Amino acid sequence: RKADIRKIEDYLWEIPKSFRQDMHVPARILANETLLNDILDDRSLNQLVNVACLPGIKEASLVMPDVHEGYGFPIGGVAATAHPEGAISPGGIGYDINCGVRLQVSRLQRQEVENHLEKLSKELNAQIPSGMGKSGHVRVYGDEMNEVLIKGAKWAVEHGYGSKEDLQYIESNGRLSFADPTLVSIMAKNRGADQLGTLGSGNHFVEVDYVEKIYDDDIAQTYGLREGQVVVLIHTGSRGLGHQVATDYIRSMMRAMPKYGIQIPDRELTCVPFNSEEGQDYFKAMCAAANFAWCNRQIIAAEVADAWETVFGEDGGELRLLYDVAHNIAKIETHTIENRPQKVIVHRKGATRAFGPGSDEIPQAYAKVGQPVIIPGSMGTCSYVLAGAAKSEEMTFGSCCHGAGRRLSRTAVKKQVNAPVLKQELKEKGIFVEGSYRGIAEEAPMAYKDVNLVVDTVETSGIAKKVAKLKPMAVIKG
Ligand code: 5GP
Ligand code: MN
Ligand code: MN
Repeated sequence: RKADIRKIEDYLWEIPKSFRQDMHVPARILANETLLNDILDDRSLNQLVNVACLPGIKEASLVMPDVHEGYGFPIGGVAATAHPEGAISPGGIGYDINCGVRLQVSRLQRQEVENHLEKLSKELNAQIPSGMGKSGHVRVYGDEMNEVLIKGAKWAVEHGYGSKEDLQYIESNGRLSFADPTLVSIMAKNRGADQLGTLGSGNHFVEVDYVEKIYDDDIAQTYGLREGQVVVLIHTGSRGLGHQVATDYIRSMMRAMPKYGIQIPDRELTCVPFNSEEGQDYFKAMCAAANFAWCNRQIIAAEVADAWETVFGEDGGELRLLYDVAHNIAKIETHTIENRPQKVIVHRKGATRAFGPGSDEIPQAYAKVGQPVIIPGSMGTCSYVLAGAAKSEEMTFGSCCHGAGRRLSRTAVKKQVNAPVLKQELKEKGIFVEGSYRGIAEEAPMAYKDVNLVVDTVETSGIAKKVAKLKPMAVIKG
């Protein structure tokens, strides 16, 4: 298989269109050689080649260096299809619609927080309901739910969670206007009814970190980051509601697909033309689920702020929102393809936006330096903040990796890790972990690739620039 892959640069590889007859475009892999060798171990490149067969796909199917196997599409995958007639595929967005990461920054330094970590992690764990199917303090039914699905993060602000200023620091201001709640099933709404403000299962987390290192002073200053500063990462998505939207539409698309004469190499890649009735219905329901996720993260941020105040009182100060990005979503965007601007449907599945300086889709305060790209690593290693660069618009439809990427399956890692021992080991390193033993085992640092390699690859490629490195201090796991 490696013989089929052509090296283009040290960080870029290509499987040519000639590799398989049904490919419409080549498949490209952003990775260094070490990461590439890892990637060859699972089915993700097979999946990447399959994605290159989607109707209307433009330029290339792409994977980021954190790639691993997913449902249909690989996680870490990016694909742009022609607007409006190209394919939209729920597998290219994922079951957790608008899973994403949010970064809040405090005014406290590491030394001011260090001695309160045990209390802080217990308090965060008490404030933020977590675990599979767990219900929260906020309940929304009927018209109220429809409002959440239409307004996204704005609904949360209107109900006292966070402030209006937050909205400009959320991708798409935390609200996609195409959302149509009437296209979200009763079952999906029921599943979401008591899940706003909840974290969900294992891979989702709230994490307290400190800034260990600044790589770019100017950009760090623009983002308001400094060495030693304590920050909070929030990672979750649209919970049961988004999962049900994906389930509902994958099922109905599988039935509708033959009508459009679409042939695909894997049924998990089920898709329909974006401008078909089914395509539009899914897209509008997906936007509604994305809004639910933004509302969820906005509420969780308020829960974090409550815990913060309980522990630090007045001295704790505010937790300012630096940015909130989606990493499982499809967006209508314009990119330069074949030397002219073209409207495309960009599927990002385990990939985030990385728009560079000057983009009018990023907060004005960051316009000169590019958008923040938030890359969590693992609860035992580190995470990164990068800044999107113009090169991403040339190479990856303005996208970047979304994490270190899983290396071992949940089952494999559970066999190798003893959760209570791991929890103790992390505590000795100064990292306080709360959460189910199952969650802790499945998310052990060894389950993930080396985030340093992933981030270095991204930086070498020029699609994003390192700004800051974050070290974990306390982690709340689902
Ligand atoms: P995913 O959205 O694919 O579940 O996860 C995104 C990324 O989050 C993973 O690729 C992994 O690198 C990272 N990650 C998972 N658990 C943790 C954690 O507890 N802390 C941090 N900082 N990152 C994590
Ligand atoms: Mn998720
Ligand atoms: Mn995620």
